[in-house]
Amino acid sequence: MTESGIYPSTALKLASNDESPIRVVYVMGAGRSGSTVLDTILNNHEDVIGVGELVHLFIEGSAQKENCSCGEARDTCEIWHSVREHWSELTGISSITEHERLMTKFTRVQRLAIPEWHRLRPGNSDPDFAECLRQTQATYQAIADATGKRVIIESSKNPLRAKLLCLTPGLDVRMVHMVRDVRGVVWSRMKPFAKSKEGGVPGDMKPKPIHLATGYWMFMNFLSEQVRRAFPDQPSTRIHYENFVTSPDQTLTEIGKTAGLDYSRVAQRLAAGDAMAPGHLYAGNRVRTAGPITLRSDMEWMKRLTPGQQRLTWLLAGHQLRQYGYHRRPSDSNTGNVNDPQPAESIVNAA
Ligand SMILES: [Zn+2]
Repeated sequence: MTESGIYPSTALKLASNDESPIRVVYVMGAGRSGSTVLDTILNNHEDVIGVGELVHLFIEGSAQKENCSCGEARDTCEIWHSVREHWSELTGISSITEHERLMTKFTRVQRLAIPEWHRLRPGNSDPDFAECLRQTQATYQAIADATGKRVIIESSKNPLRAKLLCLTPGLDVRMVHMVRDVRGVVWSRMKPFAKSKEGGVPGDMKPKPIHLATGYWMFMNFLSEQVRRAFPDQPSTRIHYENFVTSPDQTLTEIGKTAGLDYSRVAQRLAAGDAMAPGHLYAGNRVRTAGPITLRSDMEWMKRLTPGQQRLTWLLAGHQLRQYGYHRRPSDSNTGNVNDPQPAESIVNAA
Protein backbone atom coordinates (compact mmCIF):
# COMPACT_ATOMS: atom_id res chain seq x y z
CA MET A 1 0.00 0.00 0.00
CA THR A 2 1.34 3.42 -0.87
CA GLU A 3 0.92 6.42 1.32
CA SER A 4 -1.91 7.70 -0.84
CA GLY A 5 -3.71 4.38 -0.41
CA ILE A 6 -5.78 4.70 -3.59
CA TYR A 7 -5.18 1.28 -5.02
CA PRO A 8 -5.61 -2.01 -3.19
CA SER A 9 -2.49 -3.71 -1.91
CA THR A 10 -3.61 -6.97 -3.51
CA ALA A 11 -3.02 -5.42 -6.93
CA LEU A 12 0.75 -5.08 -6.57
CA LYS A 13 1.53 -7.30 -9.52
CA LEU A 14 1.34 -7.21 -13.25
CA ALA A 15 -1.84 -8.38 -14.90
CA SER A 16 -2.40 -12.04 -14.17
CA ASN A 17 -3.66 -14.44 -16.79
CA ASP A 18 -7.17 -14.57 -15.37
CA GLU A 19 -7.66 -10.81 -15.73
CA SER A 20 -9.05 -9.32 -18.89
CA PRO A 21 -6.64 -7.10 -20.81
CA ILE A 22 -6.60 -3.41 -20.02
CA ARG A 23 -8.29 -1.57 -22.87
CA VAL A 24 -6.48 1.50 -24.22
CA VAL A 25 -8.36 3.83 -26.56
CA TYR A 26 -5.52 5.69 -28.21
CA VAL A 27 -6.09 9.01 -30.03
CA MET A 28 -3.41 9.73 -32.64
CA GLY A 29 -2.69 12.18 -35.44
CA ALA A 30 -1.25 15.68 -35.72
CA GLY A 31 -1.19 18.00 -32.72
CA ARG A 32 -3.77 20.84 -32.68
CA SER A 33 -6.39 18.56 -34.20
CA GLY A 34 -8.70 18.71 -31.18
CA SER A 35 -7.50 15.57 -29.44
CA THR A 36 -7.42 17.12 -25.95
CA VAL A 37 -11.04 18.25 -26.29
CA LEU A 38 -11.96 14.79 -27.53
CA ASP A 39 -10.07 13.15 -24.64
CA THR A 40 -11.92 15.42 -22.18
CA ILE A 41 -15.31 14.45 -23.57
CA LEU A 42 -14.50 10.74 -23.79
CA ASN A 43 -13.34 10.95 -20.15
CA ASN A 44 -16.93 11.71 -19.11
CA HIS A 45 -17.98 8.08 -19.61
CA GLU A 46 -18.33 6.51 -16.18
CA ASP A 47 -16.29 3.40 -17.08
CA VAL A 48 -13.17 5.15 -18.35
CA ILE A 49 -10.28 7.31 -17.20
CA GLY A 50 -8.85 9.89 -19.60
CA VAL A 51 -5.13 10.43 -19.09
CA GLY A 52 -4.15 12.99 -21.73
CA GLU A 53 -0.64 12.84 -23.14
CA LEU A 54 0.56 10.10 -20.84
CA VAL A 55 4.01 9.98 -22.37
CA HIS A 56 4.90 13.22 -20.55
CA LEU A 57 4.33 11.60 -17.16
CA PHE A 58 7.69 9.85 -17.49
CA ILE A 59 9.75 12.80 -18.70
CA GLU A 60 11.94 14.06 -15.87
CA GLY A 61 11.66 17.77 -16.69
CA SER A 62 7.92 17.60 -17.27
CA ALA A 63 7.02 18.29 -13.63
CA GLN A 64 8.47 21.80 -13.94
CA LYS A 65 6.45 22.49 -17.09
CA GLU A 66 3.15 20.66 -16.87
CA ASN A 67 0.26 20.44 -14.44
CA CYS A 68 -2.54 17.91 -14.28
CA SER A 69 -5.91 19.24 -15.46
CA CYS A 70 -7.12 18.99 -11.84
CA GLY A 71 -4.79 21.94 -11.15
CA GLU A 72 -2.25 19.98 -9.13
CA ALA A 73 1.36 19.38 -10.07
CA ARG A 74 2.41 15.92 -11.25
CA ASP A 75 3.80 14.96 -7.89
CA THR A 76 0.91 16.30 -5.82
CA CYS A 77 -2.06 15.07 -7.93
CA GLU A 78 -3.35 12.07 -6.01
CA ILE A 79 -3.82 10.02 -9.17
CA TRP A 80 -0.44 10.64 -10.76
CA HIS A 81 1.46 10.48 -7.50
CA SER A 82 -0.10 7.09 -6.84
CA VAL A 83 0.49 5.85 -10.40
CA ARG A 84 4.16 6.83 -10.33
CA GLU A 85 4.71 5.14 -6.97
CA HIS A 86 2.89 1.99 -7.98
CA TRP A 87 4.77 1.87 -11.29
CA SER A 88 8.03 1.87 -9.34
CA GLU A 89 6.81 -1.02 -7.18
CA LEU A 90 5.70 -3.03 -10.22
CA THR A 91 8.90 -2.48 -12.17
CA GLY A 92 11.39 -2.32 -9.31
CA ILE A 93 12.70 0.94 -10.79
CA SER A 94 12.81 4.10 -8.72
CA SER A 95 14.04 6.53 -11.38
CA ILE A 96 12.13 7.34 -14.55
CA THR A 97 15.31 8.29 -16.43
CA GLU A 98 15.67 4.79 -17.87
CA HIS A 99 12.05 4.73 -19.02
CA GLU A 100 12.54 8.09 -20.70
CA ARG A 101 15.58 6.68 -22.53
CA LEU A 102 13.61 3.67 -23.76
CA MET A 103 10.69 5.84 -24.90
CA THR A 104 13.11 8.02 -26.87
CA LYS A 105 14.76 4.98 -28.45
CA PHE A 106 11.53 3.33 -29.55
CA THR A 107 8.92 6.05 -30.00
CA ARG A 108 10.52 9.43 -30.61
CA VAL A 109 9.66 10.53 -34.14
CA GLN A 110 12.94 11.54 -35.80
CA ARG A 111 14.60 10.86 -39.17
CA LEU A 112 11.17 10.10 -40.66
CA ALA A 113 10.67 7.55 -37.86
CA ILE A 114 12.40 4.87 -39.94
CA PRO A 115 14.79 3.51 -37.25
CA GLU A 116 12.07 3.53 -34.61
CA TRP A 117 9.54 1.84 -36.92
CA HIS A 118 11.94 -1.07 -37.47
CA ARG A 119 12.86 -1.34 -33.81
CA LEU A 120 9.17 -1.71 -32.97
CA ARG A 121 8.63 -5.20 -34.35
CA PRO A 122 7.56 -8.53 -32.88
CA GLY A 123 10.55 -10.75 -32.18
CA ASN A 124 13.02 -7.88 -31.76
CA SER A 125 15.70 -9.58 -29.61
CA ASP A 126 17.15 -6.32 -28.27
CA PRO A 127 16.94 -6.61 -24.44
CA ASP A 128 15.92 -2.95 -24.40
CA PHE A 129 12.79 -3.85 -26.35
CA ALA A 130 11.64 -6.48 -23.84
CA GLU A 131 12.31 -4.02 -21.02
CA CYS A 132 10.42 -1.28 -22.85
CA LEU A 133 7.37 -3.56 -23.18
CA ARG A 134 7.58 -4.58 -19.52
CA GLN A 135 7.71 -0.99 -18.30
CA THR A 136 4.93 0.07 -20.67
CA GLN A 137 2.68 -2.72 -19.45
CA ALA A 138 3.40 -1.66 -15.86
CA THR A 139 2.32 1.90 -16.71
CA TYR A 140 -1.19 0.86 -17.67
CA GLN A 141 -1.44 -1.67 -14.85
CA ALA A 142 -0.52 1.09 -12.38
CA ILE A 143 -3.24 3.37 -13.82
CA ALA A 144 -5.85 0.60 -13.70
CA ASP A 145 -4.97 -0.19 -10.09
CA ALA A 146 -4.86 3.45 -9.00
CA THR A 147 -8.17 4.39 -10.60
CA GLY A 148 -10.14 1.14 -10.62
CA LYS A 149 -10.77 1.68 -14.36
CA ARG A 150 -9.77 -0.86 -16.98
CA VAL A 151 -10.54 1.36 -19.97
CA ILE A 152 -7.97 4.13 -20.45
CA ILE A 153 -8.34 6.98 -22.96
CA GLU A 154 -4.96 8.34 -24.01
CA SER A 155 -4.30 11.21 -26.42
CA SER A 156 -0.51 11.19 -26.73
CA LYS A 157 -1.09 11.42 -30.52
CA ASN A 158 2.30 9.96 -31.48
CA PRO A 159 1.56 7.06 -33.89
CA LEU A 160 4.78 5.25 -32.91
CA ARG A 161 3.45 4.99 -29.39
CA ALA A 162 0.30 3.38 -30.80
CA LYS A 163 2.55 0.79 -32.45
CA LEU A 164 4.36 0.20 -29.16
CA LEU A 165 1.04 -0.32 -27.35
CA CYS A 166 -0.16 -2.79 -30.00
CA LEU A 167 2.96 -4.88 -29.27
CA THR A 168 2.65 -4.65 -25.46
CA PRO A 169 1.27 -7.78 -23.74
CA GLY A 170 -1.84 -7.38 -21.62
CA LEU A 171 -3.28 -4.44 -23.57
CA ASP A 172 -6.34 -4.36 -25.81
CA VAL A 173 -5.64 -1.36 -28.05
CA ARG A 174 -8.31 0.55 -29.98
CA MET A 175 -7.01 3.32 -32.25
CA VAL A 176 -8.77 6.59 -33.09
CA HIS A 177 -7.04 8.52 -35.87
CA MET A 178 -8.20 12.14 -35.57
CA VAL A 179 -7.83 14.32 -38.68
CA ARG A 180 -8.41 18.07 -38.93
CA ASP A 181 -8.19 20.24 -42.05
CA VAL A 182 -4.50 21.10 -42.36
CA ARG A 183 -5.38 24.78 -42.62
CA GLY A 184 -6.86 24.73 -39.12
CA VAL A 185 -3.75 22.96 -37.78
CA VAL A 186 -1.42 25.36 -39.59
CA TRP A 187 -3.26 28.42 -38.29
CA SER A 188 -3.10 27.06 -34.74
CA ARG A 189 0.65 26.41 -35.05
CA MET A 190 1.26 29.90 -36.46
CA LYS A 191 0.03 31.49 -33.23
CA PRO A 192 2.63 32.17 -30.51
CA PHE A 193 1.97 31.29 -26.87
CA ALA A 194 3.93 32.40 -23.82
CA LYS A 195 5.00 29.77 -21.31
CA SER A 196 2.46 29.27 -18.51
CA LYS A 197 2.49 26.15 -16.38
CA GLU A 198 -0.89 27.01 -14.84
CA GLY A 199 -2.25 27.91 -18.28
CA GLY A 200 -1.17 24.58 -19.77
CA VAL A 201 1.62 25.94 -22.00
CA PRO A 202 4.83 24.07 -21.10
CA GLY A 203 7.20 26.50 -22.83
CA ASP A 204 7.29 29.55 -25.06
CA MET A 205 5.80 28.48 -28.39
CA LYS A 206 7.07 30.38 -31.40
CA PRO A 207 5.04 30.57 -34.61
CA LYS A 208 5.85 27.71 -36.99
CA PRO A 209 6.50 28.44 -40.68
CA ILE A 210 3.64 27.27 -42.89
CA HIS A 211 5.67 24.72 -44.85
CA LEU A 212 6.98 23.07 -41.67
CA ALA A 213 3.55 23.01 -40.02
CA THR A 214 2.05 21.51 -43.19
CA GLY A 215 4.83 18.91 -43.49
CA TYR A 216 4.30 17.93 -39.86
CA TRP A 217 0.56 17.43 -40.47
CA MET A 218 1.22 15.35 -43.60
CA PHE A 219 3.72 13.08 -41.89
CA MET A 220 1.85 12.47 -38.63
CA ASN A 221 -1.32 11.57 -40.52
CA PHE A 222 0.60 9.32 -42.92
CA LEU A 223 2.25 7.56 -39.98
CA SER A 224 -1.10 7.10 -38.23
CA GLU A 225 -2.43 5.35 -41.32
CA GLN A 226 0.63 3.10 -41.46
CA VAL A 227 0.07 1.94 -37.88
CA ARG A 228 -3.59 1.15 -38.59
CA ARG A 229 -2.54 -0.86 -41.64
CA ALA A 230 0.16 -2.69 -39.68
CA PHE A 231 -2.40 -3.92 -37.14
CA PRO A 232 -5.56 -4.71 -39.11
CA ASP A 233 -6.85 -6.95 -36.32
CA GLN A 234 -6.92 -4.09 -33.81
CA PRO A 235 -10.19 -2.13 -33.92
CA SER A 236 -9.58 1.36 -35.26
CA THR A 237 -11.35 4.29 -36.85
CA ARG A 238 -10.65 7.61 -38.49
CA ILE A 239 -12.66 10.63 -37.39
CA HIS A 240 -12.70 14.27 -38.47
CA TYR A 241 -12.49 17.29 -36.18
CA GLU A 242 -15.01 19.18 -38.33
CA ASN A 243 -17.61 16.42 -38.00
CA PHE A 244 -16.89 16.01 -34.32
CA VAL A 245 -17.58 19.66 -33.45
CA THR A 246 -20.72 19.89 -35.58
CA SER A 247 -22.23 16.41 -35.04
CA PRO A 248 -20.57 15.06 -31.91
CA ASP A 249 -23.24 12.39 -31.45
CA GLN A 250 -22.26 10.69 -34.72
CA THR A 251 -18.56 10.84 -33.94
CA LEU A 252 -19.12 9.52 -30.41
CA THR A 253 -21.21 6.65 -31.82
CA GLU A 254 -18.37 5.82 -34.19
CA ILE A 255 -15.75 5.94 -31.44
CA GLY A 256 -18.04 3.92 -29.19
CA LYS A 257 -18.21 1.12 -31.79
CA THR A 258 -14.43 1.03 -31.98
CA ALA A 259 -13.90 1.33 -28.23
CA GLY A 260 -16.68 -1.09 -27.27
CA LEU A 261 -18.43 1.60 -25.21
CA ASP A 262 -21.87 3.17 -25.29
CA TYR A 263 -21.39 6.94 -25.55
CA SER A 264 -25.07 7.84 -25.98
CA ARG A 265 -25.41 9.35 -22.49
CA VAL A 266 -22.35 11.53 -22.99
CA ALA A 267 -23.75 12.63 -26.37
CA GLN A 268 -27.05 13.56 -24.71
CA ARG A 269 -25.22 15.62 -22.10
CA LEU A 270 -23.26 17.41 -24.82
CA ALA A 271 -26.46 18.14 -26.74
CA ALA A 272 -27.97 19.59 -23.57
CA GLY A 273 -25.00 21.95 -23.27
CA ASP A 274 -23.55 20.28 -20.18
CA ALA A 275 -19.97 21.19 -19.37
CA MET A 276 -17.53 18.31 -19.57
CA ALA A 277 -15.12 17.77 -16.68
CA PRO A 278 -11.47 17.30 -17.70
CA GLY A 279 -10.63 14.90 -14.85
CA HIS A 280 -6.91 14.19 -14.59
CA LEU A 281 -5.50 14.79 -18.07
CA TYR A 282 -1.74 15.12 -17.88
CA ALA A 283 -0.14 17.37 -20.54
CA GLY A 284 -1.86 18.19 -23.81
CA ASN A 285 -3.49 21.33 -25.14
CA ARG A 286 -3.87 24.31 -22.80
CA VAL A 287 -7.67 23.93 -23.01
CA ARG A 288 -7.48 21.16 -20.41
CA THR A 289 -6.52 23.63 -17.66
CA ALA A 290 -9.49 25.92 -18.23
CA GLY A 291 -11.96 23.84 -16.23
CA PRO A 292 -15.08 22.11 -17.58
CA ILE A 293 -15.53 22.66 -21.32
CA THR A 294 -18.40 22.88 -23.76
CA LEU A 295 -17.86 21.92 -27.38
CA ARG A 296 -17.55 24.67 -29.95
CA SER A 297 -16.33 24.79 -33.52
CA ASP A 298 -13.06 26.63 -34.22
CA MET A 299 -12.89 27.65 -37.88
CA GLU A 300 -10.85 30.79 -37.29
CA TRP A 301 -8.40 29.81 -40.03
CA MET A 302 -10.99 30.59 -42.70
CA LYS A 303 -10.85 34.28 -41.80
CA ARG A 304 -7.25 34.58 -40.60
CA LEU A 305 -5.17 32.68 -43.16
CA THR A 306 -4.51 34.83 -46.23
CA PRO A 307 -5.54 33.47 -49.67
CA GLY A 308 -1.84 33.01 -50.44
CA GLN A 309 -1.28 30.98 -47.26
CA GLN A 310 -4.31 28.84 -48.02
CA ARG A 311 -3.02 28.23 -51.57
CA LEU A 312 0.38 27.16 -50.24
CA THR A 313 -1.04 24.63 -47.77
CA TRP A 314 -3.28 23.22 -50.49
CA LEU A 315 -0.36 23.00 -52.90
CA LEU A 316 1.64 20.98 -50.37
CA ALA A 317 -1.06 18.84 -48.79
CA GLY A 318 -3.96 18.95 -51.28
CA HIS A 319 -3.49 15.37 -52.44
CA GLN A 320 -3.74 14.04 -48.89
CA LEU A 321 -6.60 16.41 -48.04
CA ARG A 322 -8.62 15.16 -51.01
CA GLN A 323 -8.12 11.58 -49.87
CA TYR A 324 -9.65 12.57 -46.55
CA GLY A 325 -12.59 14.22 -48.31
CA TYR A 326 -11.68 17.87 -47.80
CA HIS A 327 -12.39 20.51 -50.44
CA ARG A 328 -10.14 23.32 -51.55
CA ARG A 329 -12.97 25.82 -51.11
CA PRO A 330 -15.13 25.00 -48.12
CA SER A 331 -18.75 25.24 -49.22
CA ASP A 332 -20.62 26.14 -46.06
CA SER A 333 -18.97 28.57 -43.71
CA ASN A 334 -22.02 28.98 -41.49
CA THR A 335 -22.24 25.56 -39.96
CA GLY A 336 -18.59 24.81 -39.51
CA ASN A 337 -19.15 21.48 -41.26
CA VAL A 338 -17.34 22.94 -44.21
CA ASN A 339 -15.42 20.12 -45.68
CA ASP A 340 -17.89 17.34 -46.07
CA PRO A 341 -15.27 14.73 -45.20
CA GLN A 342 -15.91 11.17 -46.16
CA PRO A 343 -17.81 9.05 -43.67
CA ALA A 344 -15.55 7.79 -40.94
CA GLU A 345 -13.65 4.79 -42.14
CA SER A 346 -13.64 1.99 -39.58
CA ILE A 347 -12.08 -1.31 -38.99
CA VAL A 348 -13.97 -2.92 -36.14
CA ASN A 349 -13.20 -6.52 -35.36
CA ALA A 350 -14.23 -8.66 -32.49
CA ALA A 351 -11.47 -8.34 -29.93
ZN1 LIG B 1 -4.87 15.36 -11.25
